[in-house]
Amino acid sequence: MNSTPGDFGSRLTRAVSATVKSGLSGLLISPGPDLQYLIGYDAVPLERITCLVICANGSTVLVVPRLEFLAAQASPAGSLGINIVTWDESDDPYALIGDQLPRDDSRAYGIDDHMWASKVLQLRAAIPDRDQTLAGPVLQPLRMTKDAAEIEALIEAGSAIDRVHAAIPHLLKIGMTEKEAAAAIGAQILAEGHVRVDFVIVAAGPNGASPHHEPSDYHLAVGEPIVIDIGGTMPSGYRSDCTRMYSLGEPDQDFRRSYAALLEAQAATVRAVKPGVTTGRLDVIPREILAEHGLSDYFIHRTGHGIGLETHEDPYLMAGSELVVEPGMAFSIEPGFYLAGRYGARIEDIVVCTPEGVRSLNNQPHELTVVEVP
Ligand code: ZN
Ligand code: ZN
Ligand code: ZN
Repeated sequence: MNSTPGDFGSRLTRAVSATVKSGLSGLLISPGPDLQYLIGYDAVPLERITCLVICANGSTVLVVPRLEFLAAQASPAGSLGINIVTWDESDDPYALIGDQLPRDDSRAYGIDDHMWASKVLQLRAAIPDRDQTLAGPVLQPLRMTKDAAEIEALIEAGSAIDRVHAAIPHLLKIGMTEKEAAAAIGAQILAEGHVRVDFVIVAAGPNGASPHHEPSDYHLAVGEPIVIDIGGTMPSGYRSDCTRMYSLGEPDQDFRRSYAALLEAQAATVRAVKPGVTTGRLDVIPREILAEHGLSDYFIHRTGHGIGLETHEDPYLMAGSELVVEPGMAFSIEPGFYLAGRYGARIEDIVVCTPEGVRSLNNQPHELTVVEVP
């Protein structure tokens, strides 16, 4: 997975400006989504440390174990003009990383939010004169607003997972277990262009009341609503995440009524996405509509999360958040209701805020898909 798209040169420039603004002397970035975002290098996190050092003075150095040099150079990082410094098995890579930070700058440095604790502590020991803080607050604002290449990648991910949902009615059979359904759906996620299945939630009947239910040996039964929430990673590194509701045969009238309210709540929230709205407001809208139908107590999670090189990243749509939505932000809108012992339901689309309003990246019908049973 090394075809991450993007103008890495301009991302690095913005990362340096953000570092200067933050008052830090530099950022230490380890393998994971931040490294992939900044230089397109999808390095595997290993016990041997790989670290991109971004300094406030503009110097950028990639420190890698010698045996990873060719892989690093073959990634987009190799054509960015970044200095790649290697370390040998007998070297102390932590001292080497410390040496890359400007000598005359004793201010704190930011550590990748995803760096292993063992590495964080070894860096602390190797660079004793400076404080550590998180790099996340510096990098998250950059990653939160997607550029054209990223939106293109998310559009492709959205279409791929839509094709999987389109196939699901043909995969579900009465009597099969959630696990069997999940295996068939997982294969379809790969067949439709993802390189990795990130999760397959198949939650039938009472299991639907648990939002992150693990597929079990529970058998799909007539008239029981089924929550299917699926996602994977595309060759670009960008993720998909989409939930639709299914039922083998007609569910009961109670469920039908509640589901109609959920459809209304989800659609109204998607329509409300535009530049200037806050993520807190987007969390309130579905709650108000569900409350009109006596369902607000059963909507037990936030309304959505950002998505990109991670399935869950900033911005989060939750109560009290004052973050102002801007063009380029991509996130899920996924209200639901969960009735313990009975069933649950959720409808989820990934949307992108545009200058004019909103574009939904998931476009399969939102209505309950009722599969005919013999
Ligand atoms: Zn979730
Ligand atoms: Zn989601
Ligand atoms: Zn989901």
